[in-house]
Amino acid sequence: MIDLRSDTLTRPTEAMRAAMARAEVGDDVYGEDPTVRALEERVAAMFGHEAALFTPTGSLANVLAVGLLVAPGQEVLCEASAHIARAELGAHGAVSGVTMRTWIHERGGVDLDVLRRLVAPDMGPFFVRTAAISLENTHNFAGGTVLPLADLQAVRALADEAGVAVHVDGARIWNAHVATGTPLSEYGAATDSLAVCLSKGLGAPVGSLVVGSAEAMAEARVRRKRLGGGMRQVGILAAAGLHALDHHVERLADDHAHARLLAEACGTDPESVHTNIVVVEKADAAGFVARAQDAGVRVAAVGPTTVRLVTHLDVSRADAERAAAVLSTLE
Ligand SMILES: *Cc1c(COP(=O)(O)O)cnc(C)c1O
Repeated sequence: MIDLRSDTLTRPTEAMRAAMARAEVGDDVYGEDPTVRALEERVAAMFGHEAALFTPTGSLANVLAVGLLVAPGQEVLCEASAHIARAELGAHGAVSGVTMRTWIHERGGVDLDVLRRLVAPDMGPFFVRTAAISLENTHNFAGGTVLPLADLQAVRALADEAGVAVHVDGARIWNAHVATGTPLSEYGAATDSLAVCLSKGLGAPVGSLVVGSAEAMAEARVRRKRLGGGMRQVGILAAAGLHALDHHVERLADDHAHARLLAEACGTDPESVHTNIVVVEKADAAGFVARAQDAGVRVAAVGPTTVRLVTHLDVSRADAERAAAVLSTLE
């Protein structure tokens, strides 16, 4: 079975498991796990930020980051299908008291004129105060689309003018980096905080990080513990992340090539595929999913007429070619 439902489905490689087994560990709530500290320092430096904090999930990384930028009763602005708005089960409201207003953008990006009309940094006792803008790169539900660096920088300028913060949900920022060649430090320079995942295409079994200032990360460490996310000898997992950063970043280019191959086979314009996610329109998405599964390929229906395919570490060139051959024969 070739599984294209998600890039979260990867399993740790033998080499990754060996790195995990060798990891030096300590109690990370005491700040004494050397492998976690090495991972946090390395990821902070990659983005040119002062500090980073390891979290069990990307959702928690986003909740901590947005909660630090936006006080209870204030708002974050984001695209309507952003992961923070759609897929974190209301955590920002339920846990942090953060409200949201959203804009709609076909490709998960941002229209500056629309954003300018939404930003409301200080309306006195009359309107909700905008405290942050959150952008997603790559954008998951828009189909792995890359947010152009120029758009991020323009949002940064607008946010500076208005006195609001900028967060990037960069669960797949590695894919954006590899697809465009944009240095990670450029993304870092335009943001107050980022959330990045190790457990998507990078292939680690668990783990994300929040990235930001030393002061913000010190407070994030307190809040992480409050929410039950303080972990102990978790260097075993951080070692998987370090291994992934060493060995699984540049190879994302293969996933992107495989995604374009699959797009062509499914009648989707390969030019529309920026990274490792392919969105395909089919008259009967559920039927297509069932027929694909019968033929040995698992894909996901994400709407009545929309199917999603995601390439990742556990899909080889041969798998991608076989899946393409199978899917091209299905209606
Ligand atoms: C996967 C993902 C996350 C984090 O998800 P978790 O399952 O909580 O690790 C955050 N943002 C985006 C865009 C994602 O795709």
